[in-house]
Amino acid sequence: MSSIDKVVYMDNNATTRVAPEVLEAMLPYYSELYGNPSSMHTFGGQVGVKFAEARQQIATLIGANSEELVFTSCGTESDSTAILSALQSFPQKRHIVTTRVEHPAVKNLCEHLDTLTGHKHKVTMLPVADDGTIDLKQYEESLTDETAIVSVMWANNETGVIFPVAEMAAIAKSRGILFHTDAVQAVGKVPINLAEVPIDFLSISGHKLHAPKGIGVLYVRKGTPFVPFMIGGHQEHGRRGGTENVAAIIGLGKACALAGEKMAEENSRVKALRDKLEEGLLSSVPSAILNGHKTERLPNTCNISFEYVEGEAILLHLDRFGICASSGSACTSGSLEPSHVLRAMGVPFTAAHGSIRFSLSVYNTEEEVDYILEKVPPIIANLREMSPFWKGEHVGKVGGGQCKCSCS
Ligand SMILES: *Cc1c(COP(=O)(O)O)cnc(C)c1O
Repeated sequence: MSSIDKVVYMDNNATTRVAPEVLEAMLPYYSELYGNPSSMHTFGGQVGVKFAEARQQIATLIGANSEELVFTSCGTESDSTAILSALQSFPQKRHIVTTRVEHPAVKNLCEHLDTLTGHKHKVTMLPVADDGTIDLKQYEESLTDETAIVSVMWANNETGVIFPVAEMAAIAKSRGILFHTDAVQAVGKVPINLAEVPIDFLSISGHKLHAPKGIGVLYVRKGTPFVPFMIGGHQEHGRRGGTENVAAIIGLGKACALAGEKMAEENSRVKALRDKLEEGLLSSVPSAILNGHKTERLPNTCNISFEYVEGEAILLHLDRFGICASSGSACTSGSLEPSHVLRAMGVPFTAAHGSIRFSLSVYNTEEEVDYILEKVPPIIANLREMSPFWKGEHVGKVGGGQCKCSCS
C-alpha cells in the first residue's frame, strides 16, 4: 500500500467488519465469562442464559423458532450439512437440483459428490438468463421422483441477483422434495420470514453480516429429517457435536439484532449510495455494462463490466487509492477463467474479464462514493490506452471469446 491513510471498503460481500457493538457484546465471553454453556454449575449456566438470548435474536431476524437453529463453524459447513443430510435421509434418491451460479460452497460440493460416488449422484445445474434470473418452468421440469434436495441460493454473492426462493420452495414442497437455500448474502439485507415460506434448510454466515468469521448457522425446519454432519457430544441436541463458539454466537445474536434495526437503512440509504455509484460509473465510463437484473437484486451490490480491460488490473489501481472491491475474473490464480457466474449469464469474455464488484454496507458514506466516482474513470481510460482490444474496437475488429492477456 502506498500513501493512503484511509481505506474505502466496498467488498462487503467478501467479508464485513465486526460491528463495534458486536465486539463489545462478545468480549466478556473471552475474559471473565468463559464458562461452558453445557455445564451444570451456575458459572457455566449464566453463559447459557446469554447464549439462549443470542439464539432467539438470530431466530427473530429470519422468522424461525430458536430450536430450529443449529450452530456451525461457517456458511460452508451449513451448506454441506444440509445437502449431505438430505442425501442420507433419502438414500434411494440420488438427484440434486441446483444452479450454475451457486457459491463454491454448494457448487463444488455438488460436483465433488458427483465424482466421488462414481456418478451415482446426478446433479442438475439450472442455467440462468443474461440478467442472472432463473426460469421457473425449467426449474419445475427438472424435478423428478429421484430428487432428494433442491439447493438454490437466496441472493447471488457476485451480482446480488435475488432468486424467487419462496416460490421455488413451494414447488419443491408440493413434490415432497427438501429445499435448501444458501441465504448467506440475503440475511440482514432483505426481509426473511421462514414462518411464511416452506424452506427446509437455510444457511447463514456470521462474517457477512458484521459478526466474526468462523460462525455459521443452519436453520432446520421442525420436522425435517436431519442427519448430523459432525457427530460427537450432545450439543445442539445432537445435531452438531463440538463445544459451541460461545462468544461468536453471542456476537452473531447482536449482529442479527442490529441488522433487523438497520434493514430499512440498508434498503434506503445504502441502496441510494449503490445506485449513485452505479449510475455514475455507467454514465461516465464508456463501454461499461451492469451485470445482473436491475431491480431483482440486493440493495448493496453492484457488478459492472468495463469492457476490454482486466479486472485484476483495475483492482490494483483501485488499491493504490485504498479502494477495496473485487473482480470476477481470476487471472492471479493462473486459470484465466472468468467467474462461473458471469459465464453462466453469457457475459462475453471481453466483458467478463473486466468485471468489478462493489459491495456496500451501512458503514459506507456518500463521500466514499464520490471518491470512487472520481478515481475510476481515469483508471479505466489509462488501462484502455494500453489495451490492444480497446484500440481494436476503434478499427472495428474486436473478436470476443478469447482472452489474450499475458498471464496463462
Ligand atoms: C461467503 C459465502 C459463503 C461461505 O461462507 P463462509 O462462512 O465463508 O464459509 C457461502 N455462500 C455465499 C453465498 C457466500 O457469499
